[in-house]
Amino acid sequence: MVGANEATISQEKATFELLTQMGHEQLVFCNDENTGLKAIIGIHNTVLGPSLGGTRMWNYTSEHEAIRDVLRLSRGMTFKASISGLNLGGGKAVIIGDASTMKTEALLRRFGKFVESLNGKYVTAEDVNMSPRDMEYIRMETRHVSGLSESIGGGGDPSPVTAYGVYVGMKACAKKVYGSDNLKGKKILIQGVGNVGKSLCELLAKDGAILYVSDIFPERVKEVCNTYKATSLENGDIFNADIDIYSPCALGATINDDSIDLLRCDIVAGAANNQLEDEVKHGDMLLKKGILYAPDFLINAGGLINVGIDYLGGWSKQRVYAKVEQIYDTTLSILNKSQKENINTQKAAIALATKRINDIGKVKLPL
Ligand code: NAD
Repeated sequence: MVGANEATISQEKATFELLTQMGHEQLVFCNDENTGLKAIIGIHNTVLGPSLGGTRMWNYTSEHEAIRDVLRLSRGMTFKASISGLNLGGGKAVIIGDASTMKTEALLRRFGKFVESLNGKYVTAEDVNMSPRDMEYIRMETRHVSGLSESIGGGGDPSPVTAYGVYVGMKACAKKVYGSDNLKGKKILIQGVGNVGKSLCELLAKDGAILYVSDIFPERVKEVCNTYKATSLENGDIFNADIDIYSPCALGATINDDSIDLLRCDIVAGAANNQLEDEVKHGDMLLKKGILYAPDFLINAGGLINVGIDYLGGWSKQRVYAKVEQIYDTTLSILNKSQKENINTQKAAIALATKRINDIGKVKLPL
C-alpha cells in the first residue's frame, strides 16, 4: 500500500510540476464508466477570456501521453488567441479512445455535460477525429460549443479560413525574403493535402505558384495534381526537393534535426500545429541556416478566428476574413522583431502573445 501511495503522489507531483512549468490554470479529468468516457480538459489561461480549443479523440498509448498532449495543445491555443487579438484564452480537450469504435452519442453527450459543468470557462470545438455532427451531440448538453455547421447557424468549416491565413502569412514571408509578396513562379511544397492543404493549393495555384504535393493517401495527391497541375513527391524525397517554400500541412514536429539538415528552401510556412519538434532548439537552427519560419500558431489561426468570432457573437464571413487578413501585418512585425533582436521567429511571436496577456492580466506567464 505504501508503494501504491508513493506512486500516486509522485505521479500527481509530476503533473503539477508540468502545470507550473507550462503555466496552466486547471486540468480537469472526466470519467464515466457507463459510456466509457475518459477525457481531459486542459485550461491554460483565461486572462483574455474563456478558454477555447477543440476536442481531439485519440487512442493514446498512456494517460501520461494524453496529459502531455492536452497541456501542449492548450498552451498553444493561449498564444494563438492572444496574437490574433481575440478576447479568448487557451484550452483544449482530449478524449482517450478509438474514435472508430468508442465514439457514441451517449459518450459525446456525457462529455458535453462535463463541459457544461465548467460554466463557460472552457468552450469546445472540432478537432482530430471529431465531426460537425459530433459537435451537435455535445451541443445538446452545453452552450459552450463553437464551430457548428452553417446550416444550423454556426460558423461552418474552419479549414478554408485556416488556409487563407496560411496563405497571407506565407505572402508576408515572401515580402520579407524576396521583397515582393507575389508568389507567381515560386516552387512551393505542400505536405498533406487534406482539408487545409487542398484549399491552400487552390489559393496558390490562382497566384501562379508551382506546386509540389505529398500525402499518404495517393488518391488525394492525384486529385490535387489533376486539379491544380501540381507535381507529386514521394514522402521520402520531400526534404531533398529544390523548393522555395515548404508548407507543412499534415503533422507536427516535421522540423527536427534530420529535416533541417536536408531542407533547401527559403521559407517554412504551413498549417500544422507544433511544427518545430523543439521550439527553442529548432527555431534557432532555422534562424542560423537562414530559413525564415512563419510561427505556426500565428499563421494557422484562421480556424480559431472563425470559431472564436462565432462564439463571441457577430459572426459574418466578412468580419472573419478581415481579421484573418491582419495575419499579414502581424507576421511582418514578428519577422522584423526577430531580425532586430536576433531571436528566432517563434520566440518573437510567443513574446508578443505573452505581452498582451501579461499587460492585461498583470500576471507573469512562463515562456
Ligand atoms: P486533414 O486530416 O484534413 O489533412 C491532413 C492530411 O495530411 C491528410 O490528407 C493526411 O493523409 C495527410 N498526412 C498525414 N500524415 C502525412 C505524412 N506523413 N505525410 C504526408 N501527408 C500526411 O487535416 P487538416 O484539417 O487539413 O489540418 C492539417 C494540419 O493543420 C493539422 O496538423 C491540423 O492540426 C492543423 N490545423 C488545422 C486547422 C483547421 O482549420 N482544419 C486549424 C489549425 C491547424
